[in-house]
Amino acid sequence: MQTFFCPDQLLHTPQQFMRLGRLMPATDLPSRAESLQTTLHAAGVPVHSPPEIARTALEAVHTPQYLDYLETAYERWQDLRRPGVEPGIEVLPNQAPYAGMPPGQDRPPCPSPALAAQTGYYLGDLSCPLGPHSWRSILRSAHSAVAAAETVIGGARAAYALCRPSGHHAHRDRASGFCFVNNNACAAARLQQAFGRVAVLDVDAHHGDGTQNIFYANPEVLTVSIHADPAQYFPFYTGYAHERGTGAGLGCNLNLPLAHGSGNAEFLQALAAARQAITDFRPEALVLALGFDTYKDDPISVLRLDFDAYRATGRLLRELALPVVVVQEGGYLVEAIGPGLAAFLEGLHG
Ligand SMILES: [Zn+2]
Repeated sequence: MQTFFCPDQLLHTPQQFMRLGRLMPATDLPSRAESLQTTLHAAGVPVHSPPEIARTALEAVHTPQYLDYLETAYERWQDLRRPGVEPGIEVLPNQAPYAGMPPGQDRPPCPSPALAAQTGYYLGDLSCPLGPHSWRSILRSAHSAVAAAETVIGGARAAYALCRPSGHHAHRDRASGFCFVNNNACAAARLQQAFGRVAVLDVDAHHGDGTQNIFYANPEVLTVSIHADPAQYFPFYTGYAHERGTGAGLGCNLNLPLAHGSGNAEFLQALAAARQAITDFRPEALVLALGFDTYKDDPISVLRLDFDAYRATGRLLRELALPVVVVQEGGYLVEAIGPGLAAFLEGLHG
């Protein structure tokens, strides 16, 4: 299986995020990607650095104003030179504007050119600090996903993008939940151009809210997400079963929330429902947004899955027999995500 990862994806080293009123050490550590790489090396899977890819691949999903912001915010932040602001401080918002847009509908660009205003507008929460090299990592992570999509378009049965930072919480013009550019949506948009109908299956512990929102009105992209019940879990505001899409995309979104504490049995039941929805949609290609923060011992997990669930996910992909791009999402127990990927690959390859 062709696999993509660029060492520049390790350059994003967030220092902090706000949780329950406290600045905490970051959990999206570069060592996550190193653990996944160790598994790939042990399995004899060669890892390729993706080519530099034109920005149009990202603009298929994100607004140009948002991408400009991500690319320039850190340098502009250093230039603020406000009293008390030390050099090297990460970009974090201190505004939270009221958005108020219906699902699937785009916001206008930020009306203010002020950096503080744009930071509040485009960084949707306090888990997305931008450091000196964040943009490079964000960009190369997206390139890995698009390169995997190109590989599948070129005839490969499956390709894997070791994406870090993750992407599925990134909206068209808004970062959140450790995510900046929506890697799996970039891959799905590229597959849609080539294949027509595409399905995205998201099995991260958190609802794939960014992906859902990006394709919410799109009848050519089915989005299915299996995740912990968002009523008491990030991203809180979406991920409910009644969200089915809008306009021409009505019926093309399926959320399968799991009760907190659910294990393999409940997950496999949801996976069967996802399989039925995907089969009924008759896509020509599939994107799997693969997270391991469903693992029973993950530090932020409320689910209780073990490696058999990841093996079953791989097996489902093999049985669906669609061209598939696998995009890495979350998973924060560094010792478990490598074995999680190994179990998934066993299921995929049979
Ligand atoms: Zn997650």
